[in-house]
Amino acid sequence: MGLSQADLAHLPANTRPLDRNTPFTFSCHSGLDCFTECCRLLELALTPYDVLRLRRATGLSSSDFLEHYVIIEDSEDETFPRLYLTMVDDGRASCAFVTAAGCTVYRDRPGACRVYPLGRASKHGASGDTEEHYILIQEPHCHGFLDQVTQTAECYCLDQGLLEYNRFNDKVASILKHPQVRSGKILQPEERQLFLLFLYDLDRLRIEISGGVIPDMTPIAVQEVISKNDEELLLFAIEWLRQRLFV
Ligand code: SF4
Ligand code: SF4
Repeated sequence: MGLSQADLAHLPANTRPLDRNTPFTFSCHSGLDCFTECCRLLELALTPYDVLRLRRATGLSSSDFLEHYVIIEDSEDETFPRLYLTMVDDGRASCAFVTAAGCTVYRDRPGACRVYPLGRASKHGASGDTEEHYILIQEPHCHGFLDQVTQTAECYCLDQGLLEYNRFNDKVASILKHPQVRSGKILQPEERQLFLLFLYDLDRLRIEISGGVIPDMTPIAVQEVISKNDEELLLFAIEWLRQRLFV
């Protein structure tokens, strides 16, 4: 399984494809002169699972987290709304969670922060199999490549705790990369609101489910769903939304 010539032609500069077991040298630690340089001048897109973890780390409700830390871009030119972590206006567009000592939400940092300097893309076959592709991004500001610590994409992702992130992101991909989306489906305004509610605002979703946002649910079913923990509720929400959007 490899990238096609068309895929390769679209890779950005400083980027090359990487097989999951091909070794590369890299190590990131606070002793490097580039420490936290990668936490500035970012466009950090957030997945639903990123928001779930960050909301928990900050102790805020999902609605308050979205209000304080997230920029929502909801352009009709895009199939789905996009969510980005807010950067601080400090002249360097630093992440709201970076300090001189490092990341204050390290245990719950987004998947994009964990996977860097790799990138991961997944494709899902008709039989439910997942095809993974990795790229290695070597940017001038990142000096972690000078450390001679041997890694592979497979081990690095494991070390960075990415398996759980990948599990949720692959489920969300069943919506983002649905065949109807590839065929040009346009989401209606109400569907765009459901996308934000079901995937990113789980505390408000519990309230809305109690208020009847999902038609024809029995009181027992409502109670069962709103009692789920955040991870279970997100899995339920992804599946419900997928069926709602692509009938
Ligand atoms: S969340 Fe943490 S690791 Fe990610 S950019 Fe912000 S400070 Fe850096
Ligand atoms: S080594 Fe790279 S990833 Fe690690 S702190 Fe430096 S710039 Fe960031």
